[in-house]
Amino acid sequence: MQKFDKALFKKEVENNARKLFRRELTELNEKEAFHAVAAAVQNQIIDDWIRTTKAAEEEDCKRVYYLSMEFLMGRALGNNILNLTSQEEIRDVINELGLNLSALEEAEPDWALGNGGLGRLAACFLDSLATLGYWACGCGIRYKYGFFKQQIVDGYQKEVADDWLKDGNPFEIRRAELAKEVRFGGWVETVQEEDGRLHFVHKGYQAVEAIPYDTPVVGYNNHVVDTLRVWDAKATDTFRLDEFDKGNYQKAVESANMARNIVEVLYPNDNHYAGKELRLRQQYFFISASVQTAVADYAKRHNGDVRKLYEKVAFQLNDTHPTVAVAELMRVLMDDYHLTWDESWEITLKTCAYTNHTIMAEALEKWPIELFSKLLPRIYQIVEEINRRFCETVRAKYPEQAEEKIAKMAIIYDGQVKMAHLAIIGGHAVNGVAALHTEILKKQELRDFYEMYPEKFSNKTNGITQRRWVYHANPELAKWITAHIGDQWLTDLSKLEKLAVYADDKQAQAEFMAIKRHNKERLAKYVLKHNGIKLNVDSIFDVMVKRLHEYKRQLMNILHVMYLYNQIKDHPEMEFYPHTFIFGAKAAAGYKTAKLTIKLINNVAEVINNDPTIQDKIKVVFIEDYKVSSAEVIIPAADFSEQISTASKEASGTSNMKLMVNGALTMGTMDGANVEIVQEVGAENAFIFGMSSDEVIALEHNNEYRPMDIFNNDQEIRRVLMQLVNGFYSPEDPELFRPLYDSLLNTNESDRADRYFILKDLRAYMKAQEEAVKKFQDEEWWARAAILNTAHAGKFSSDRTIEEYAKDIWGLDKIVFKD
Ligand SMILES: *Cc1c(COP(=O)(O)O)cnc(C)c1O
Repeated sequence: MQKFDKALFKKEVENNARKLFRRELTELNEKEAFHAVAAAVQNQIIDDWIRTTKAAEEEDCKRVYYLSMEFLMGRALGNNILNLTSQEEIRDVINELGLNLSALEEAEPDWALGNGGLGRLAACFLDSLATLGYWACGCGIRYKYGFFKQQIVDGYQKEVADDWLKDGNPFEIRRAELAKEVRFGGWVETVQEEDGRLHFVHKGYQAVEAIPYDTPVVGYNNHVVDTLRVWDAKATDTFRLDEFDKGNYQKAVESANMARNIVEVLYPNDNHYAGKELRLRQQYFFISASVQTAVADYAKRHNGDVRKLYEKVAFQLNDTHPTVAVAELMRVLMDDYHLTWDESWEITLKTCAYTNHTIMAEALEKWPIELFSKLLPRIYQIVEEINRRFCETVRAKYPEQAEEKIAKMAIIYDGQVKMAHLAIIGGHAVNGVAALHTEILKKQELRDFYEMYPEKFSNKTNGITQRRWVYHANPELAKWITAHIGDQWLTDLSKLEKLAVYADDKQAQAEFMAIKRHNKERLAKYVLKHNGIKLNVDSIFDVMVKRLHEYKRQLMNILHVMYLYNQIKDHPEMEFYPHTFIFGAKAAAGYKTAKLTIKLINNVAEVINNDPTIQDKIKVVFIEDYKVSSAEVIIPAADFSEQISTASKEASGTSNMKLMVNGALTMGTMDGANVEIVQEVGAENAFIFGMSSDEVIALEHNNEYRPMDIFNNDQEIRRVLMQLVNGFYSPEDPELFRPLYDSLLNTNESDRADRYFILKDLRAYMKAQEEAVKKFQDEEWWARAAILNTAHAGKFSSDRTIEEYAKDIWGLDKIVFKD
C-alpha cells in the first residue's frame, strides 16, 4: 500500500483544475473546485477499490448483491474523505490550497436515487458492509432524474425535475465492457432437444443494452472499497439508418426513446404501488442485468460450473421491487447454463432472501397477468411453473383447506401476479425490519406463510450509520464523544453505553447542551437563509422530518399546533415556553391529501409567524426540499423527535434512530423501532402516548370507531377542526381544507373516517406534548435524558444490523488483505 503523499495530492488538485477547466485552481468557482478536489479524492480511492476486488476474488469470498430500486446516498465527497485513512492529511491540503471543505461539499448535488427510509437504509447498509469488510455490491438504476426537488410556492409543493447528473458525477466510472442485454416482449418457442429436454427460445423481443456505472463505497479506515453499481439503458440499435433514410425519423429514434424512458425517472412513491408498466420494465431491467452479471462473474471464477452459486453469491431483495430476481435467476440457470429445473430451484432458494418493509395494503405489488406476461413472456412462464408446483405442495400439506390456502397464498391468483408471495416462496429467508413489525408479519399479514415456513422468518431491526449521522453530520458531538470514551464508537456503536456515567455530571451536561445549542444556531442560520424566518435558539426545536404520508400523521402534529395557538389567543397572559415546530417532507406528486397537508402547515405557519401578539412563543417552519444533506443539518439540532405514526403502520422508521443518537427525545407511539428505542433508553426518557398496535388492529376489525363522537364531545378539538372549514387559515378560500376535515370526520365509499386514528390519539398526544414541554424546562433533567438517549442508541447502528444479516441470512466472511 502506498503512503499518502501530500505534495502529490496538492499537485493533483491543481492539475485537475487545468485538465477539467483549463484554468488555475484559484480561478475556479465552488462547483468547479468541487470537481477538481473530488477527482483527486477518487484517485485516492481507486487503488483500494481494485485491491479489494482482487483480495476478495483471490480468497473466493462470498459476495452479497443488495438489489434495490433505491439508494438514497446523499452527498459523497465529505463522507468519502472522512472514511479514508488519510482524512486528516487531505483536509490539511484542502486548507493549504485556500479552499473551504464545507463550501466544496455544498457544491455537490445530493445523489437522490431514492424516496425515503427504504432508499436511505440501502445507503446506510452499503456504508456498514464496506466498514465491516464484507464484499458487497449495491445494484440499482442510474435514474437520469432522481427524486424531484421540492419548491414551496405560495404554500404549495411544486415538483421540479432534479437533473443531478448535468455536471457529471466525479465518483462514477462507466463500465461499458460489462454491458448486458435485457430483453422485453416477444414470445417463447419450445424446442425439444436431442436428449429429450425442452429448450425455450425467446423470439421477437426488443433488446435494451444495460450499461453499469460503478461508484466506490469507502469503508471506514480499513482500505475496503465496495461498489454501488447503477445501470443505464441504451438502445442496442440506437439509430436505425434504414428508417432514417426512408425519411421515418420518428421510427428511427423510437427504440432509443424506449431505452431512455426506462432510466428517466424514479417513481416518487413511498409505501405506495402505482402499477405502471414502466415500473415493471425498470424492475426487470436492472434485475436482469444484475443477475446475469453476478452469475457470469461467479461462473468465470468457477470453471463455468454454477451449481454451487449460493455458496458465493447472495441476493438480498430490498422489498418486493426486485422480486423478478427469483424468476430471472431460474431463467439464467436453465436457459443460459442448461441446469435442470430442480437444480436451478435449489440454487435460487439458497441464493435469494427478501426483506419486507411494510404492511400497508396500498404498497403491495400485484401485476395484472396480461401486463406481466406480455412484457416478460419467458419470466411469466417460469413464475407460472413456480406457482403450479407451490400449489401442489399446498394441496399435499393442507388437503382439507387447499383451495382456501391457495386463494390466500398463490403467486398467481385472481388475474394477478403477487410479488410478495413470489419473494417468500422463492427465497430461503424473509425478514421484517423491527421486532414489532416482524411479529405483526408472523401473526397477521404473512401468517399462512409463517405457518408453512416458520424457519424462513426472522427479524432484523434497521439501523443507521453513525459515520454519516454523527461523525459527519454532528462533528462537535463526535469530538465530544471521542474525548469522553475514545473513538471506538465509530465502528462499534455499543461503546456509546460508556457515556451513561456522564449523564449526571454537571460539566458533561453543560458541554452536551452547548453542542446542541451550536447545532440549533447552525440550523437557525440555514432557516434564515432558506426561509427568511428568524428562529429563537432558546425555544424547543420540535422536529418532524420524513416523507409526507397520512399514516405518519403530520396532520396530527399541525392540529396540535393549531390547538396551542387557540390557547395562547384565549389566554394571552398564560405562561408558554417558546416552541419551534420544524417540518420537512415531500409528498408524492399525485397524493392530494398529502399535498394539501403541506399547504395547511404553510398556511398555519403564515398566520402564526405573522401574528405580532404571538411574538416568539410559537414558530412554524416548513423546510423546503427535505433530503439527506438537509437532514444532516436539521437532525443534530432537534430537541423533540416526532415519531407519531398510527401504531402498526410504520414498519421501523430510521429518522427516530438518527434523532435519538443526536440527543433528541422521542415523542412517539409504540410503533416500529420506537418500541425498541424505549426499551433501550427507558420509558422515562421518552414521551410515549396513544393506542398500541393491538388496539389499532382490533379497532380496524370491529369497525366501531366513530371520530364524530370526539368532534361532538371535545370542544377544543372541535374548534380546531372547524378552523379547517371556516376560513381561519385560508380566508380567501374557506373550503380549501375541507378535504382534510372530511378525511377525519366523514366516511366515504373508499375510506372510513379518520383511517389513521388521528382524533383518537390527539388528546393523548396533546398531553404528552405538555409533559415534554414541562420537562424541557428542567434543564438538568433534560440534559441528563438527552445524554442518555445518545448513550443508549448503540443498538441502532446499521453495523449491528449488517452483522445480523451477514451471519443469519448471507453467511458472509470478511475480506482479508494478504499484502
Ligand atoms: C432517514 C431518512 C428518511 C426516513 O425517515 P423516517 O422518519 O424513518 O420515515 C427519509 N428521508 C431522508 C432524507 C432520510 O435521511
